[in-house]
Amino acid sequence: MTHNPWFHRLLCSLAALLVTLAQAAPAWAQFSLPPLPYGPEALEPAIDATTMTIHHDRHHGAYVANLNGQIKANPKLANLSLDALQGQISQFPAAVRNNGGGHWNHSQFWAVMAPPGQGGSPSEALLAAINASFGSLEAMQTQFSQAAAARFGSGWAWLIRKADGSLAITSTANQDNPLMDLPELERGTPLLGLDVWEHAYYLRYQNRRPDYISAWWSVVNWEEVNRRFAASA
Ligand code: MN
Repeated sequence: MTHNPWFHRLLCSLAALLVTLAQAAPAWAQFSLPPLPYGPEALEPAIDATTMTIHHDRHHGAYVANLNGQIKANPKLANLSLDALQGQISQFPAAVRNNGGGHWNHSQFWAVMAPPGQGGSPSEALLAAINASFGSLEAMQTQFSQAAAARFGSGWAWLIRKADGSLAITSTANQDNPLMDLPELERGTPLLGLDVWEHAYYLRYQNRRPDYISAWWSVVNWEEVNRRFAASA
């Protein structure tokens, strides 16, 4: 082959592109980290930018990497969507339960938040269901906040739609969620889930979890909750 600088540059560019693609999306990686739908500072002052960056990039990133790392030992994972995995989680070891739950829970968490003033409000249909099950929006929020504050150690608080159509508040430990086929859980379709692990709030709030919960209501993305409620029918 004659030495052609143009051809050499083309080969170098292609090689660099392949390296970039391999780093961005390894061929074995079934599960991937969704980007934040807003900047890391967008939820200030309720949630600070540093917490958002560490929480998304490192914590959620680790759940995704660890879940992908479980595919080899659990080949059934390769044929399951993240949603479908939740309902079959009892068939898998703890590492899949923890990291698969972590990936699902955080993916919904980023989606059900929006910058202050941009999250809209509950739809008429959602509000009617909330009133039927709790009496009022405020009563639902009070019950949700109490469940979030009372969760001992690490876990989540949830607003769910149960199989009978009613709404309920529940909470789960660690990275469990109400979609999981585990006998100890109250099951339902999650409409809104709040992370109360210390990594979600400690930099700004330290031990004051109730202050974090209270501030978090200002960044709830009701449009997304409305969408999840409509899809759960
Ligand atoms: Mn978290």
